[in-house]
Amino acid sequence: MKQPSIEYDIAVVGAGVVGAACAFRLAQGGRSVALLDRDEPGRACSFGNAGHLGTDHIFPLPSLSALMATPGYLLSKDAPLKIPARYALQIAPWLARFVWASRPSAFQRGTEALKSLLGRSMDDFLNLARDADIVDLCRTDGHLMLVERAGSIREVKKLIADSTAHGVPVTWLEPDAAYELIGRRSPDIVGAAHFTGTGHVKSPFGIVQAFANAAVAAGADLQRSEIVSIERTSRGYTLKSHQGDIRAKSVLITAGVWSKSIVASLGFNVPLDTERGYHLMAEGGETSFRIPVSSFERKVIITPMVQGVRITGAIEFGGTKLPEDTNRYQILERTLDHLAPEVDRTRMSQWMGFRPSLPDLLPVIGCAPGEPNLLFAFGHQHLGLTLSGVTAEIVRCLAYNEATPIDLAPFRIERF
Ligand SMILES: Cc1cc2nc3c(=O)[nH]c(=O)nc-3n(C[C@H](O)[C@H](O)[C@H](O)COP(=O)(O)OP(=O)(O)OC[C@H]3O[C@@H](n4cnc5c(N)ncnc54)[C@H](O)[C@@H]3O)c2cc1C
Repeated sequence: MKQPSIEYDIAVVGAGVVGAACAFRLAQGGRSVALLDRDEPGRACSFGNAGHLGTDHIFPLPSLSALMATPGYLLSKDAPLKIPARYALQIAPWLARFVWASRPSAFQRGTEALKSLLGRSMDDFLNLARDADIVDLCRTDGHLMLVERAGSIREVKKLIADSTAHGVPVTWLEPDAAYELIGRRSPDIVGAAHFTGTGHVKSPFGIVQAFANAAVAAGADLQRSEIVSIERTSRGYTLKSHQGDIRAKSVLITAGVWSKSIVASLGFNVPLDTERGYHLMAEGGETSFRIPVSSFERKVIITPMVQGVRITGAIEFGGTKLPEDTNRYQILERTLDHLAPEVDRTRMSQWMGFRPSLPDLLPVIGCAPGEPNLLFAFGHQHLGLTLSGVTAEIVRCLAYNEATPIDLAPFRIERF
């Protein structure tokens, strides 16, 4: 470990996909960078995501349609949305803000904000992947969303029309055309939405490791440190950790859902919580799917990866301390069996992770008010992998005093 006397240009707190991507871009520019994590890079939320490069997710989750669908979800034990009774009181203020963010004017602003990030997210991600020499882990051939019930067709066609109006490339496929893409004539479907501007990565953990390694190769110091608090000093910041103090002229906080307590030590109270999600990985499994396949009704996505086939889903408001809900794995396994029965399920691994989410489902990206050397990049909700490249590019611009490629007003920390 480095001696406390070293002063870095910038300390990056948290080496998930967002922190590792940012550290890489910052180190490439020549600044001295410390990339700090209490664990191995990529072991938290970024480990188990679906690998989807979701450039299609331009509509924020808080919306009138989400509010209308919620009661139905909460009544069913197998529904993709769950609020455990033990966490209901704690999450209530977050949910109240979510409801407020669902009003049409906020939804429209949120859509424009997400569009501004997502519009360049694929290019920025692929540039980063190219620089880290991992293009072979990335695919840009879209995904398919299956529609299983005739009653869903109207809603999906509206989604297609709304998405198209915002420039998202997506078309409706009749079952025969969809079966071509999934490589067989099951399950029973009434059609599918074919998104052609999306992509996926074949190893989300491999991506973070590669970004962190590339950051180190570009000169960053990767250190195991658990940051407890951060103090302002006359020269910059002192990061207090169990392993000793670290000094830096600038700080970037990218600690996922745990950013909440770290920014609190600097006087910022953000309503950051988690939407927990689950995956099952059929290790060594193979599927006939040529591209990732999701289900409109079941809210899951199945992604072919290097290690096997991964099925991912669920939104659970249970904080970071409650135990996982093992029923989720059974639901995912039944769903995998239904949608992709050919996948060998003899070696299955299970995982639950913490999406870092703010109630308006927009991330915090930018500087602290009046404090250009204190930077934030957290709260990337369902899109941290997708947005890692564009976030890293924005952070690089901020750190190097260049104009940012997009307006950061919707993402400022003081909006709450
Ligand atoms: C089931 C599921 C599926 C998903 N699918 C997708 C998808 O397909 N596409 C997509 O774009 N996104 C997806 N996401 C979301 C995505 O995974 C997250 O948005 C992303 O991983 C967040 O990255 P992060 O770097 O902000 O946080 P994390 O990956 O959680 O990293 C935070 C890091 O900070 C470290 N840390 C925390 N506290 C401290 C401390 N005090 N000191 C030092 N280090 C600390 C942690 O150890 C960790 O390494 C999914 C999420 C889930 C749960």
